[in-house]
Amino acid sequence: ALWSRATCRRHHCAPGRGKRLVLSCMFQPQNLREDQLLSLEGRSGELTCKSQRLMLQVGLIHPANPGCYHLLPYTVRAMEKLVRAIDQEMQAIGGQKVNMPSLSSAELWRATSRWDLMGKELLRLRDRHGKEYCLGPTHEEAITALVASQKTLSYKQLPLLLYQVTRKFRDEPRPRFGLLRGREFYMKDMYTFDCSPEAARQTYSLVCGAYCSLFSRLGLPFVQVQADVGSIGGTMSHEFQLPVDIGEDLLAVCPSCSFAANKETLDSAQANCPVCQGLLTETRGVEVGHTFYLGTKYSSIFNAQFANIHGKPSLAEMGCYGLGVTRILAAAIEVLSTEDCIRWPGLLAPYQVCLIPPKRGSKEEVATELMGNLYDHIAEAVPQLHGEVLLDDRAHLTIGNRLKDANKLGYPFVIIAGKRALEDPSHFEVWCQNTSEVVFLTKEGVVELL
Ligand code: ATP
Ligand code: MG
Ligand code: MG
Ligand code: MG
Repeated sequence: ALWSRATCRRHHCAPGRGKRLVLSCMFQPQNLREDQLLSLEGRSGELTCKSQRLMLQVGLIHPANPGCYHLLPYTVRAMEKLVRAIDQEMQAIGGQKVNMPSLSSAELWRATSRWDLMGKELLRLRDRHGKEYCLGPTHEEAITALVASQKTLSYKQLPLLLYQVTRKFRDEPRPRFGLLRGREFYMKDMYTFDCSPEAARQTYSLVCGAYCSLFSRLGLPFVQVQADVGSIGGTMSHEFQLPVDIGEDLLAVCPSCSFAANKETLDSAQANCPVCQGLLTETRGVEVGHTFYLGTKYSSIFNAQFANIHGKPSLAEMGCYGLGVTRILAAAIEVLSTEDCIRWPGLLAPYQVCLIPPKRGSKEEVATELMGNLYDHIAEAVPQLHGEVLLDDRAHLTIGNRLKDANKLGYPFVIIAGKRALEDPSHFEVWCQNTSEVVFLTKEGVVELL
């Protein structure tokens, strides 16, 4: 009932007006009850969290199989915006984007012993010739072998910062909380190659700085904590954590100095800050990023070398840096939203503006014309909002009902043409989410505000 070809044609193809995006044509499976949603996930009764519930309810994601979700149009838009912001940060520090295969041969993983070390988390398969592969959970092996194959690498080309944004596969023992812990998810992973430990440490600080800049731009409160190196290895490691109650990590934070650590690394009995001896406080966090200084752990195995200043072959000093792309989306919603309404970092909101014309009635044509005009006016006058304005053309619903939906979805601006706007064009009602203000404006006033 949400999808009508007639309304779609009428609004999309209004002659001479270009395309208008209308809500009735959005593919957005929703309005299922929570128990129906959970049974779709095959795990009825299992605990859920706010971001998972909201994202399922408004049709941002849809369960495919445990730990795997269909990402629906709104989510894909938000994710593309996030990837754009990540690209800007990575490229600002000299990152070059690559894209490596998901299939990774067992030989590479045997070389680092991780074929066995990773245990059941590694999703393994065989091709028709019986050759063994895994679906990449991370790409240290693949990238180091790639760089090692480059026999003419010179110190002049370093540091080399390569990154990708791709799907990762991990057979998690407990996939849960929607996109927060999936078995298939998107990660941004960067791998860096330097000519000395000092240079590698500088690169490490540079990437950490880029992560701080990203989370600040997203307006997300984060803590950078000292972390365990786990199965990835290396000698120095930090996690970027968003403090949230449902977070699976326990953090120790010192209120007096800047010390913060994941409790996994820290002696669990330690109550005092190792830096200033102040009393540590505990908080829960979701790990959204992780950085490692690897040294030559991988370059020595695959022989990833460069010609040094004396022309002699020398092992590259490496670092690796992950960001959980889909996890950041869900974690941001978890942190910013109320129990009933999604709130996005402004940068990531799938659409910036939602227009709501009056309910179908006697003055329907006047109203449609008025909103159409406003839509076109915004499109012309605010080029940066190109493709960001959505018209809620479900005219069989009251304004109130559509406003409720819009509020739940979290558009930064919702603009309503109520009955008064039909008579008095200075009466577009504008709901601004950032300031929680409602203002009445003319068409020109709306453009100025946006
Ligand atoms: P966790 O401790 O939550 O299992 P991890 O330490 O195993 O994560 P890393 O190997 O450090 O993860 O991967 C880099 C980033 O990828 C993590 O910081 C996280 O943001 C993201 N990530 C890891 N596992 C998942 C998952 N199952 N679903 C979604 N994102 C994930
Ligand atoms: Mg893990
Ligand atoms: Mg971890
Ligand atoms: Mg980690």
